[in-house]
Amino acid sequence: MTKSDVSPPTIDAPASKSAITRRAFLGAVAATAGGAALAACSAGSGAPSTSIPPSIAATTASLPAASAALDVRMITPPKLDTAYLGEHILCYRPLRKGKPNLSVETIGDTVVAHNYGHGGSGWTLGPGSAKYVIDLVEASPAGAKVKKDSPITIVGAGVIGLFTAYELVQRGYTNITVKAAAFKELTSHNAGGLLAPVSMDNDPEFQKIIDKIGIDAYKFYAEIANGTQPDFKTGAKVIPAYFKDREHSGLEPYVGNVMQPAKDVVLDFGNGTTRKMVSYDDGIFMDTAVLMKSLHDYLEPKMPFVQEKITDLNSLGSPLVFDCSGLGAAKLNDDTEVVSVQGHLVMLRDQTPADLQHMILVYFKEGTTEAGQHVKRSFYMFPKHLPGTGVNDVGVVGGTFVEGGTPLTPNYQEFDTMIAAARNFYGM
Ligand SMILES: Cc1cc2nc3c(=O)[nH]c(=O)nc-3n(C[C@H](O)[C@H](O)[C@H](O)COP(=O)(O)OP(=O)(O)OC[C@H]3O[C@@H](n4cnc5c(N)ncnc54)[C@H](O)[C@@H]3O)c2cc1C
Repeated sequence: MTKSDVSPPTIDAPASKSAITRRAFLGAVAATAGGAALAACSAGSGAPSTSIPPSIAATTASLPAASAALDVRMITPPKLDTAYLGEHILCYRPLRKGKPNLSVETIGDTVVAHNYGHGGSGWTLGPGSAKYVIDLVEASPAGAKVKKDSPITIVGAGVIGLFTAYELVQRGYTNITVKAAAFKELTSHNAGGLLAPVSMDNDPEFQKIIDKIGIDAYKFYAEIANGTQPDFKTGAKVIPAYFKDREHSGLEPYVGNVMQPAKDVVLDFGNGTTRKMVSYDDGIFMDTAVLMKSLHDYLEPKMPFVQEKITDLNSLGSPLVFDCSGLGAAKLNDDTEVVSVQGHLVMLRDQTPADLQHMILVYFKEGTTEAGQHVKRSFYMFPKHLPGTGVNDVGVVGGTFVEGGTPLTPNYQEFDTMIAAARNFYGM
């Protein structure tokens, strides 16, 4: 992908809490028609000091008086000059309006279990979503008849398909085949890696189920992070996750279950710029491309992976089929609720990884792309690493949420807008 040479438009300051609610944004996303089937796409982490000096507080208008001791985190920003910007990536979230399709139905002789439409939270939900859907299958009269050695087909090899395969293996199913139109360069490889249920459009009554699924997934990744997960030893870690406020994190339902309450903190970038934020110090970062490789390494000796585009879920010769086709479900399942939400990412290179052991996500105002599409802009930075790249090639900067964005509307100017917003956030 080549970088656009168009000058970045003016960057808005981070949106205030009242400027836009998460729900309002997601509602706008949901209103967008679309759904074309798409191929893919140490100190720095915050040793607190004592209290904020008045001179620093003065640089950030919203900081309270310096009388109370504030938790100030010294953060060394990533290097964002052009020489430190690596691959520019476009990819597409499979958002399903109302809720992801996590359900079981019988089509002809086939029990079909749907597990798609997780929007910007497929990694956040993946392990929990697989458990939830397989529980549904095992509790259904037709699904309960499927034997442990019956042929089972999984359609789709993104994070959702692979975690479905992993969970089936854990439950003793022995005759599984994964079929997918593509195995490489999927949205699942490109995803940023923050565990937080964002960029979805869930009916309020379904949100409780989503939160439970996310909490299950948090436990799974926490086991990887603390070294007790039996099959995966790398790819997830516990590091601070910084947000503008608690509401936009989506993580409040996790507090008291698996997470500690967020703290009010001040990020000090050491250049005169500070930002008032909240920190979930037990945030989870999932190194998505690393985990995709680990999942393949675990699963491939246990089951065939067949490259095939599926057009009919009832003609696969398996009594049980899992539909984990992401955006492909728009066509495959004739699901008009599935929409594509485009994302822009820039990989960083030649960084100091120790400086980047945290995650940041702030939302900006909504806008319109050069293709006339509605975009919610944000800045985020996560310590993502791609397997096979240099040890200092760490960090990803995002990100956009372009409703209905497809490869036909790449919206290249968003890359420049995004990097300008990142530099502005750090006061560069
Ligand atoms: C820029 C960006 C950043 C993101 N950051 C995060 C994050 O920080 N945290 C988070 O939790 N989530 C994040 N996400 C969301 C996450 O990446 C997705 O929710 C997740 O990858 C979806 O996984 P999936 O398996 O459903 O889809 P995919 O990864 O797209 O896989 C779909 C699979 O189905 C196959 N398929 C489709 N149709 C057919 C067919 N007809 N026949 C056969 N195979 C078919 C495809 O070939 C592919 O193998 C991000 C997404 C984007 C775009």
